[in-house]
This record gives sequence, structure tokens and C-alpha cells, in this order.
Amino acid sequence: MFDLASALKSLLSADQVSTRRGDREQHAADQSAYAPSTPDVVVWPETTADVSAVLRFANEHKIPVTPWGAGTSIEGNPIPVKGGVVLDLGRMNRIIAIHEEDFQVTVQPGALYKDMNKVLGRRGLFFPPDPGANASIGGMLANNAAGTRTVKYGATRDNVLGLEVVLADGRIIRTGSRAVKQSSGYDLTHLFVGSEGTLGVITEATLKLHPLPAHFSAATAAFPTVEAAAAAVFDIIAAGLEPAALELLDETTIHILNQETDLDLHPGPNLFMEFSGSSKAALAEALPLVEEICRENGCVHYQAGVGRQERARLWEARHSVFEAQVRHFPGQDYIVTDTATPISRYPEMIAYAHELMQALDLVGSIVSHAGDGNVHVILFYPRGDKAARAKVLEFSDRMVEKALGLGGTITGEHGVGLGKQKFMAREHGAEALALMRDLKRLLDPNGILNPGKVLDL
Ligand SMILES: Cc1cc2nc3c(=O)[nH]c(=O)nc-3n(C[C@H](O)[C@H](O)[C@H](O)COP(=O)(O)OP(=O)(O)OC[C@H]3O[C@@H](n4cnc5c(N)ncnc54)[C@H](O)[C@@H]3O)c2cc1C
Repeated sequence: MFDLASALKSLLSADQVSTRRGDREQHAADQSAYAPSTPDVVVWPETTADVSAVLRFANEHKIPVTPWGAGTSIEGNPIPVKGGVVLDLGRMNRIIAIHEEDFQVTVQPGALYKDMNKVLGRRGLFFPPDPGANASIGGMLANNAAGTRTVKYGATRDNVLGLEVVLADGRIIRTGSRAVKQSSGYDLTHLFVGSEGTLGVITEATLKLHPLPAHFSAATAAFPTVEAAAAAVFDIIAAGLEPAALELLDETTIHILNQETDLDLHPGPNLFMEFSGSSKAALAEALPLVEEICRENGCVHYQAGVGRQERARLWEARHSVFEAQVRHFPGQDYIVTDTATPISRYPEMIAYAHELMQALDLVGSIVSHAGDGNVHVILFYPRGDKAARAKVLEFSDRMVEKALGLGGTITGEHGVGLGKQKFMAREHGAEALALMRDLKRLLDPNGILNPGKVLDL
């Protein structure tokens, strides 16, 4: 048996390959509560040619390779469960070109989206998919990440025009083009989006951008129950008001935010909302209607027209919910559920989540990208308590069953990773799943790319 690290060093350079315990342990776990699995070697490619060389070699020797972005997944997606090589794309983090006149950017996968948006912001542009963590573009593409802005701008999948991808055997392909309309052949770009590193390694992406909105207004609305808040969400969407963000946070989340931040939110379930437009007049027309809808659904406290600074604090707090909760329940493990349903079934899904949490006597809270029907419940349990963990997993499974029953999906944005594989046949049916397996075998016949994820082969 050859020495893997030495072989990789001969393909790249010595400082691109590490077997140090610290480096390997840093690439053993994501942000989920799934068990870590330490890779044998960590590799940092610096060019597409590096990625190609590593994959060609790994494929020849049937060595697992798991791509790694920023490691912020919460479904076990980048955990190298079969060991082998972790391919950390962090050094390929350049913005290659900003096509300002076309509202596009071409970027390497290791660029972190918040950092990229800072650069783009100076030109009045931004990339809207907005997961809470400072994820990499490659990781966002591979998980089809979404977030607070998806209700208006779509998920990562809706904002990508073309990719450069290295296949398992080292071949380099380009997909898509820079035209916003594309009708040419099979849509390979979107085959790789959401494939969680199991079909190829993304080494470059051309993304759609949007102008930063000239006028916006943020509001919060507090409700007596989560059910009332969810009903307001449906009515706002049904009225065609097109929020730029529409988030539901339950009573526990608001309580924790009031304790952990300097926001002074009205107690009880809240909607955090933002509306944007090209003119103040358009906003002035929409906002009174939003308040009316909230009031009709029993809103007990409504605060609109928050200024730029307050708005920034509001969204900063929304993005810090996860960390605030982790701080609030020190030493506990957690699971974040992730389902999505059509918006007409959203109130039913929220009511179900709320009742089930009470029935199972669970500790946690609902934090939901409400405007697009995506529900997360963050549940805490004592570390190492197997019975408590089983109950939390039962909750997650029942949420998935419910979402499927309502015409929804087993995962709105976190991906299949490790935990959702058992539901793939239920969502897609045996024939579609068999086709997915065929595609995987075609593109990765030796099964080296992120083995153990998405599909049970
Ligand atoms: C506090 C917090 C809040 C979050 N909020 C949200 C949210 O609102 N919405 C949301 O969608 N997610 C959210 N997430 C989850 C996470 O941020 C996203 O799933 C994100 O897309 C992961 O990106 P990453 O760069 O960390 O990728 P990683 O976790 O490193 O990897 C993700 C997957 O992509 C693969 N991969 C990475 N790079 C490449 C590449 N170049 N080519 C091919 N495959 C690759 C990996 O193998 C893995 O399967 C949150 C996470 C945290 C910790």
C-alpha cells in the first residue's frame, strides 16, 4: 500500500497536503450533531488543474474524496464518513470577474458569500441567497442553500447561470452560459446544484446578481399564537405583496433574542418583515395593507418603518438566532429540522409543529423562513442522552412525514446529507430514485465522491 499523503504531495506541493491531527479534526464534523469522522488527509487545491489531478488519482485508486467549503452544513453533508481525502476549496476564493452591466459575477467556489457581497455592495449589487452562516459559494451551490431573501429572489439554484465542474475521473466540463435565457440541451448546471458534492466538484460559478434595493422598509408584528402569525404569512403572500423577507420566530425564540441581544421585541411569536421597491410611493402603498392583514389576524403589536440602523440590527439578530440558542442551552446537543410545504399548507404545518413539540414535551423553538413555506425547529437535548435524542429524531421524522403529506419536501434548504436519505424514496418514488442512482454511477462509477451521502448505494 502506498503512502497517500506523499502521493498527493507529489501531485501538488507539500503545503497543500496535511495529515496533521488538528487539520484532520477540523475537517471531521460540520455544525450538526452527527458524529465526526476524521479524514486521512486534507488537501487544499489552488487551481482547477489541482482539483483535476487529485480526482484523477483518487479515482484510479478508489479513494473517497469529500469536497469541503466552510463546513457550516447542518445535515452532515461534508462529513467524510468513509475517510480518505477532504478537498478543502478554501484557497480557491477569488472573484474572477464582476460583469456589472449584466448583473453577474464569476467566482471561485471557496469565496465566502458575505465577503463577496461586501465587495459587490460597493457597486450597488448583491447575491441574494442568504443562509445565516458565512457559507462558501461552492457549499451553497452544492446544498442549494436558501435563506431570508429566498421569498423574493429564490434559492441558490435560481441564481446560477453556469458552472465549471471537475468530474470524478478528473475531466473538466463547463455548463450553461452567461445568457439569462438558456434552452440548449440538458440542464447540467442544475444537475450539480444540490448534489452535495456527490457528482462533481464545482471549481467556478457564474451567478446572477441584483441591484441593492433603493427603498426598503422593515417591520415587526407580534401575535398571540404561532398559528395566528402563520395565517398572516399566508394572507400577505396571497395578497401578492412580495415581501423581500418574511420570517416567523416563535415565543421562545423572541424570549431568547430579548435576553441575548439588545433588541427589545414585543413578547410572543413575531414576524420579521422587509419590503423593498424602486420608489417610496410603491412602498407607501403596500405597507398599510401589510399592517391591516396582520391586525386582521390578531396582531397585538406592530412596529413599522424601522430605520436603516434598526433594520440592520433586526436582521443581524435574525441571523444570530442559532448561535443565541446554542449559548442559551450550554452543553446541550441540538437538531435543526428542515421541511417545506406549499404556502397554502404553511399554517397547518406550523400548527402541527407547535402541537407536536408540546405533545412530546420537547425543548426548542420554531424559526421559519415563513414566506417560502420553509419550517425549521431547533430542538435541544442533554448531550449523550440517547432517549432524549430518539424523541427529537422522532419529532424530525414526523415533521418530514407531515410535510410530505401536505405536498411538500423532506428538506427545503439543508440538503439530504446523512439524516434524510431514508425518506428519498418516499419523496421521489422508486423509479426516480433508481434514475438518480444510475446518474450517480454514470458520473462517479467508483463511488469516490462524498460517499455515503444523498443516496444509499
Ligand atoms: C448558524 C447557521 C445558520 C444557517 N442558516 C441556513 C439558512 O438559512 N439556509 C440554508 O440553506 N442553510 C443554512 N445553514 C446551513 C449551511 O450554511 C448551508 O448548507 C451552506 O450551504 C453550507 O455551505 P458551506 O460552504 O459551509 O459548505 P460545506 O458545509 O463545507 O459543504 C456543504 C456540501 O457541499 C459540498 N461542497 C462544498 N464545496 C463544494 C464544491 N466546490 N463542489 C462540490 N461540492 C461542494 C460538501 O461536500 C457538502 O456536501 C446554516 C448553518 C448555520 C451554522
